[in-house]
Amino acid sequence: MSPENTKNLSIYIHVPFCKRKCRYCAFASEDCDFDRIDPYVRALIQEIDLRSEYLMKNPELISIYFGGGSPNLLKPEHIFDILCAFQKYVKLNSLQEFTIEVNPGGINSGLLSKYRKAGINRISIGCQSIHDRELKMLGRIHTSKNIIDAVRFASDCGFSQRSLDFIYGIPGQTLESWSETLHQAISTGVEHISLYNLIFEKGTVLNTMREKGKIKPLDEDLEWQMYDLAHQMLASSGYIHYEISNWAKSGCEAIHNSVYWSGGKYLGFGAAAHSFDGERRWWNYSAVDDYLRKISDGKLPVESSELLTEANVLAEYVLLRLRTMGGMNFHDLERSTGMTSTEILEKLQDKLKLPDLEQYGRITDNRLVLNHHGWFICDYIIENVLTIIEEKL
Ligand code: SF4
Repeated sequence: MSPENTKNLSIYIHVPFCKRKCRYCAFASEDCDFDRIDPYVRALIQEIDLRSEYLMKNPELISIYFGGGSPNLLKPEHIFDILCAFQKYVKLNSLQEFTIEVNPGGINSGLLSKYRKAGINRISIGCQSIHDRELKMLGRIHTSKNIIDAVRFASDCGFSQRSLDFIYGIPGQTLESWSETLHQAISTGVEHISLYNLIFEKGTVLNTMREKGKIKPLDEDLEWQMYDLAHQMLASSGYIHYEISNWAKSGCEAIHNSVYWSGGKYLGFGAAAHSFDGERRWWNYSAVDDYLRKISDGKLPVESSELLTEANVLAEYVLLRLRTMGGMNFHDLERSTGMTSTEILEKLQDKLKLPDLEQYGRITDNRLVLNHHGWFICDYIIENVLTIIEEKL
């Protein structure tokens, strides 16, 4: 099976620093010591040079994404220096999307205006909730007022692509408070909204609080009502639910993330960054010190890699495609497993034991496309599709 998008290259740059770790966070980020940022950016530039050959072979960049962590801890000069390093090897005029993630508690209009001048055209604002008590529960450093200001700064500085992230399933959150958050998000008129279900990841403060009985996760029924409410409210405000956790106004779907979901090539830079070239996946050391040490030895900071087998590629295809509105193409499965789409569907129906599969998705153009009911139990559906494939391979 060939990835649907292998011609262009996307770049991910990880900035593993935050002002303070959030209570739910399991991402690769550490509390920021500002003295570490300059050396880290110098290491990123060295890593770009170490990747010169690969970059020159893949000069058509489609997107750049600064993620974290809190990339807004980078000064505009850092962004310029990183872009200059890329410019030695690739064409930046082919870029369709250039995104930076920002924390509303760490930006001002001066900073955003300089980011815009550096060529960044999309801003992703980590809001999580518009209620201060929920932000406190999550351990965020910002307030709801910071969010309103951040969206205004982004608009004033000319960002035509603005995305907001929110979380549902926060202990203490109610359907009413979630509805207010959604209402506020919609009223900003932003082009893109991402909504994530809170996960109690091992090793996080929130998970320890849960284990000690200090907080109670919301029950699954309420989480479903929240997801359903989001689907209804956003649809009636003109947002297309194009991926399990993502909504966009028409034509404003995230290009960079769509590269991940369609099996495209991406090259990651920085601690913990992952890369994929269509066949092989590799990832960098996640501890900043390990990353810096490798770079200062003049070596690529790759911790490990894996060559995807045909079975891996197929599993990944199912996993990624069922989460999008494009759905999973049965032709690809038929070719690899020798089963017809009818056979696959019958087996799936048998395994899922759902009274009515049509309630969870539809078959269109020989594709299985889940709806938001299906997406809510997506892991369960994917697990069963993968079992059917494994039994056949
Ligand atoms: S801002 Fe994001 S990356 Fe940083 S600690 Fe909070 S959740 Fe983690």
